[in-house]
Amino acid sequence: MLRLETLTKTYKTGDQALKGIDLEIPDGQVLALIGPSGAGKSTMIRCINRLVEPTGGKAWLDDTELTGLSQTALRHQRRLMGMIFQEYALVERLTVMENVLSGRLGYVGFWRSWTRRYPQADVDEAFRLLDRVGLLAMADKRADELSGGQRQRVGICRALIQNPKLLLVDEPTASLDPKTSRQIMRLICELCAERGLAAIINIHDVALAQMFVQRVVGLRFGAIEFDGTPEELTPDV
Ligand code: ADP
Ligand code: ADP
Repeated sequence: MLRLETLTKTYKTGDQALKGIDLEIPDGQVLALIGPSGAGKSTMIRCINRLVEPTGGKAWLDDTELTGLSQTALRHQRRLMGMIFQEYALVERLTVMENVLSGRLGYVGFWRSWTRRYPQADVDEAFRLLDRVGLLAMADKRADELSGGQRQRVGICRALIQNPKLLLVDEPTASLDPKTSRQIMRLICELCAERGLAAIINIHDVALAQMFVQRVVGLRFGAIEFDGTPEELTPDV
């Protein structure tokens, strides 16, 4: 379970991006975070894994207070929180397989280790994931040879190979066409269901969110103004 207690972020510029967010997300629940540009969605996702440092409040993942961790302890916890990005954040000159495997090593310090051989179990798992997302045949292609939708599938595999408890997904479809966007949202939600994973999907396309999730949280001016089912969401929210 992820729990946020009056989570607050005021940037040095004075922007109050989060004004005390209280939120609980049970294990296995997929939640869409919607709201206009500038509402604080991206800041909220980044405060949870502390890519952005919150200025107040607390975040808990099960019994661990994420907001209280040292950088060293944080490194371990970050592996439990897979992140998927709008612009995929792949290493273009590496292969699909290498990009997926890089997820095993977390965000920090993986450059040095790339030349080491990966354990066979990790390679097997990477092949399984690539097969699941329909990219097995692309394993040896360079990332820069792929389409946007294919890149996002690699991004998904890279997040899942960490075996996270929680996925933090930041505008996964913002660079994709409508049909590919639906495919990617469906894939993320199916994989969460298969693995019992919780997810926060930051998405500005409300219709797309409504198609795939059971819970929608609406942010505006750094505060929660809606929390309910897609059916309860009226067009003026
Ligand atoms: P969203 O993801 O909903 O578009 P953001 O979290 O990106 O919203 O932004 C929330 C608010 O915080 C906005 O007012 C934005 O201008 C501000 N903001 C975001 N990042 C920074 C930053 N690095 N420095 C200063 N202000 C920021
Ligand atoms: P060392 O462990 O000797 O410091 P590095 O891991 O830093 O070596 O790798 C040396 C260089 O090779 C770096 O520029 C790194 O980005 C690059 N590199 C490492 N692994 C790969 C790989 N699998 N494919 C392409 N380039 C790689």
